[in-house]
Amino acid sequence: MNIAIVGAGAMGKVLEDAAVRRQGTRCVGVIEPLQGLRLRDIRERVDVVVDFSHPVNLNRIEEFVREAACGLVMATTGFSQKQEQQIRELAQLVPVVQAANFSLGIAVMKRALEQITPVLQDSFDMEIIEKHHRNKVDAPSGTANFLAQILNPDGAYRLTAGRQGEKKRGKEIGIHAVRGGSIAGEHTVIFAGEDEMLEIKHTALSKKVFALGALKAAEFLYEKLEVSRAGGEKAAGLYSIEEVLFS
Ligand code: NAD
Repeated sequence: MNIAIVGAGAMGKVLEDAAVRRQGTRCVGVIEPLQGLRLRDIRERVDVVVDFSHPVNLNRIEEFVREAACGLVMATTGFSQKQEQQIRELAQLVPVVQAANFSLGIAVMKRALEQITPVLQDSFDMEIIEKHHRNKVDAPSGTANFLAQILNPDGAYRLTAGRQGEKKRGKEIGIHAVRGGSIAGEHTVIFAGEDEMLEIKHTALSKKVFALGALKAAEFLYEKLEVSRAGGEKAAGLYSIEEVLFS
């Protein structure tokens, strides 16, 4: 499988390192958009593009992936609603895995929250605290927004990013972003009731965990493309990290 990486930032570098060590995977290019590099400059076949960069690069990635009819692992966070729609439309043509968090732990945390939330939500308050390194640009994190969606699937609660001033707590879920040092990523969901609390916390101890999840997602897409090329089921679709890890 030939992969091309968009983004030579912190995650792009960790992913390149993990790809080089992974059997059956070749990294045929690492594109740094800030240096004017483009996917179309890559001379070799690309099976899957993995994007760990910035939402501003979406149009160029879409154009390349459409033309190459390859797979896309979308790991970048912070897209607008319009861009999220653009990704859904692209997935009608090519296979895409999109996840705000590529770790197994967060996928399992999602399942746990789906069980716990309906039981506690009426009598417990729900809050999310996320912590990341000092260089992270978007807040709250994509994973915090993803967790909020699980706690609030039908939008019954207002999402409150941080708090300030004098105001009583309403029907809301507070999301709090801490930024500092080299924290790879920590997400805590707090259920606070009368005289008891339940906390569910995931800690990423290094960025490697996201890189390995993204590589598994690329392999999942590559397999789908191979099946489709051999005349089997069509590969296009928007797949979740749960489908990659649990199917
Ligand atoms: P980083 O700041 O180290 O690197 C970001 C890269 O984005 C840069 O190297 C550059 O290639 C690109 N970029 C930044 N600003 C740009 C601009 N204005 N124009 C064009 N390109 C630009 O960040 P990172 O830690 O490598 O994270 C990259 C992305 O991946 C972020 O969106 C982050 O939230 C996301 N991420 C996702 C997961 C996951 O599991 N889904 C895990 C970690 C990070």
